[in-house]
Amino acid sequence: MANDETRPESIAAQALGWIDQTTRAINPPIHMSSTFLRDADNQYSSGRVYIRDQNPAFDQAEAVITALEGGHETLLFASGMAAATAVFQGLRPGDHVLAPHVMYWSLRNWLLGFATSWGLEVELIDMTDPSSVAAALRPGQTKLVWVETPANPLWTITDIAATAELAHGVGALLAVDSTAATPVLTRPLELGADLVMHSATKYLNGHSDLTAGTVTTRAENEHWQRVRAVRAQNGGTLGSFESWLLLRGLRTLYLRVRAASTSAQLIAEYFYGHPLVAEVLYPGLASAHGHEIASRQMHDGYGGMLSIRTAGGEAAAIATAATTTLWKRATSLGGVESLIEHRASVEGPGSPVPADLLRLSVGIEHVDDLITDLEHALTVAHNGIELRV
Ligand code: PLP
Repeated sequence: MANDETRPESIAAQALGWIDQTTRAINPPIHMSSTFLRDADNQYSSGRVYIRDQNPAFDQAEAVITALEGGHETLLFASGMAAATAVFQGLRPGDHVLAPHVMYWSLRNWLLGFATSWGLEVELIDMTDPSSVAAALRPGQTKLVWVETPANPLWTITDIAATAELAHGVGALLAVDSTAATPVLTRPLELGADLVMHSATKYLNGHSDLTAGTVTTRAENEHWQRVRAVRAQNGGTLGSFESWLLLRGLRTLYLRVRAASTSAQLIAEYFYGHPLVAEVLYPGLASAHGHEIASRQMHDGYGGMLSIRTAGGEAAAIATAATTTLWKRATSLGGVESLIEHRASVEGPGSPVPADLLRLSVGIEHVDDLITDLEHALTVAHNGIELRV
């Protein structure tokens, strides 16, 4: 279906327009077979041997994501963590990698706890500052620069094009965790990134009913071959039903992300300067960190994720999350239902997250209902709490 003129909304809505050749169904069947028949002449003319990394249920979702990202090839994984760690496992002992201080906390912990014991030299830096990146790069030894933008949960912005240029200058690859931005808002490969990764558990699926991860490459190369081998051999692959659900979720990606972004912008503006809110962290605010860069590299909005810092400190933040009713008190993000979370309780010591921070994942409910619920909870939570000046 897709040609160069086909817009991404149309590609997503029809999932590339694939029709099942046997039944003419416009949605694919859910393939469950774990194995495939060998031909009498001992060949596998179907091209498939075993389901682990050759599941037919991967094909369409991978092709759709490749088209939306403008890449060469996509691999599905069983979770965002499986996808992200495969990118690092594709490197070799002794390789030096740069990653940001502010990033998805579990991956930061994995890098410091596991990747280092496998011989990777991991250095965490302020990725939002190109001079820190330039100073940390080691020609010949730095093999990968990992960027997350907007970065969970402070929503700081990294300039993808500038960082890619620096990474390429020393022969390193640039990988972007684009979970919060999605291909609706940012296409990292067009900006010079070599790899783009998503926790598809979030917006790509959008319904909080599976875990999945994806990595898309701009080009075939030795590192990509190793990532492919990691998936096949480590075996962190997605199940058939989850692949099917992901494809279904992808069809409404553009509507969901645009709706969440529009509401997040309104919520950020409403609570900016609010007496019970010390700070609103959202790249769509003119005063926000990286707003100017975000305006260049994000299109159609700044995403559905924001954080607020309560004026009454940690106790008020926890009490606010305890009081909302429409905002559900739960971890994760990118679903159709809005979520609120006291992030420091999750990330624990060593995290750069302030204790008074609430992370908000904006869903597709009516924005006025979300504002009313949050304002009511803030008011109840701050009752009797002395505000900081
Ligand atoms: N990257 C980001 C930005 C995330 O928010 C998450 C999960 O919250 C992950 C990666 C990991 O994804 P998963 O939970 O699917 O393993």
